[in-house]
Amino acid sequence: MDALCPEIERLVACYTCGGQSLPPYQLCVEAHVACPACTKYQSRCACGCRFLKRSNTTLDWLVSAMKLRCKYRANGMMDSGSPVPGQVDCANEWYTVEELRDHYRTGCMRNLFTCPMKNCGYVARVDTITNHYDTDHGPLPRISPDLNCATFQLPAKRQAETIKKIFNGYFMFSVKPQRRWHKDINSLLSMQNINPSDRFHYTYTATQESHQKMLTVTVSLVETYSSPTYNIL
Ligand SMILES: [Zn+2]
Ligand SMILES: [Zn+2]
Ligand SMILES: [Zn+2]
Ligand SMILES: [Zn+2]
Repeated sequence: MDALCPEIERLVACYTCGGQSLPPYQLCVEAHVACPACTKYQSRCACGCRFLKRSNTTLDWLVSAMKLRCKYRANGMMDSGSPVPGQVDCANEWYTVEELRDHYRTGCMRNLFTCPMKNCGYVARVDTITNHYDTDHGPLPRISPDLNCATFQLPAKRQAETIKKIFNGYFMFSVKPQRRWHKDINSLLSMQNINPSDRFHYTYTATQESHQKMLTVTVSLVETYSSPTYNIL
């Protein structure tokens, strides 16, 4: 495998988010590689061109005929000591596309991730942790965004951690009510994206009228491509 060009990493990197992308590939008009999440949630490629609707068979076959490296190989090992049967350190390994998918789900020791929910501590993988959220902390309804923002309400008067699925993220919202006057409660809200494989960036705002029982929260997806002419295209 030493003969393979190191540029292979660039060939399979999504031009918009920079993440490693595996077949099937969708390209933009300028033939940049795009990952499924970017074609689904971003309005266009980071270069400014729209995404093509169909996948690119030639590139799919080409990459499927090659071997790639684990995208987590530079991470530290989160292993306490004794090696687990069937697990091989991926730092210097090369994988076919199918082997790599399997490696991310079950074999990799460099993509371990601990569930951040209070009193949970379950350890899964970056690539499978969202399954754990759905099975153990769910059901988690998906909030359908309206263009690039999603608005919903959270109860303001009790302390709570809530998970919401919006865009490609799994967001943990923590509400902390603070009593100021007799009936006046001012709630503090914090947001954390707990889907570690989500590469998008978000902004959020929260408003609460005094005496109101609900907080109105708006989560917006930051577009990778931004241009002054964007709104009129
Ligand atoms: Zn992407
Ligand atoms: Zn592009
Ligand atoms: Zn690995
Ligand atoms: Zn958990």
